[in-house]
Amino acid sequence: MANEELEDELLNLEAIFDEQLRIAEDRTSVEMTLKPDVDDDECFVRCDLRITVGDAYPNKPANVLARQIRGLSPKQQQSLQQTLTDTAAECAEAEMPAIFELIQRTKDVLEECNSSCVECGICFEAVDAETRCRTPCFHFYHRECLGRHFHFWRTDPQLDMSAEAYQAARRVTKSREEAHAHLLKLKSREPVPCPICREKLADDDIPSFDWRHIRPYKNVDIDSHSIHLSQAMVEQQRQRLDVFRHQQQHDCLISKGIKI
Ligand SMILES: [Zn+2]
Ligand SMILES: [Zn+2]
Repeated sequence: MANEELEDELLNLEAIFDEQLRIAEDRTSVEMTLKPDVDDDECFVRCDLRITVGDAYPNKPANVLARQIRGLSPKQQQSLQQTLTDTAAECAEAEMPAIFELIQRTKDVLEECNSSCVECGICFEAVDAETRCRTPCFHFYHRECLGRHFHFWRTDPQLDMSAEAYQAARRVTKSREEAHAHLLKLKSREPVPCPICREKLADDDIPSFDWRHIRPYKNVDIDSHSIHLSQAMVEQQRQRLDVFRHQQQHDCLISKGIKI
């Protein structure tokens, strides 16, 4: 059961942050998505903060975890996590409520690190204000690079389609060409996955981005009709899907324990 001191703290936090603060039903943990206090176009970093407290809180440190961090280098992520762990320990030492302090420290770090010096997630070259676009999942790309990804995805019948979907299409159609046309029709109604995190992107999710105006590369050397999914490829696709699901369940971390 939550203690009285904690309950007071939570009521104050609710008054300050309103719905931004997500409090668990048992009222021993909170989550909040944090961004720097700047205009949306100028925002390059974000993270989710999860703070869990035990019975002995505030005399024992809160458990704090920064997750779904975007726009920070691995070193900055490590330093953020260290700052938060230290802050929780300092608050416990002083027997002070820690949650507000932890939220504030996170915001300070995000504001310090909010820089537009990011790389395109496709070509790894720098993106600037002129060339960049940011997805709702906070991944950055050149408009050109993401545009070509949209082109590929919308015009390649097999890209990112599951083996099951491909086989189902083959069953309801007479030829490979018809199956491809069928898959393209299915895909035209689907949002395109973000190349990094696979979150679904609708065309109008990204401001000032119109992929239809972007010219795809012409790739005359590849004869797409000669490409088909062999049994071995279908099996590999299935195994990779297992790995992908595992990653999704573990906050997108790639685990050394999982083999492809
Ligand atoms: Zn790029
Ligand atoms: Zn993404």
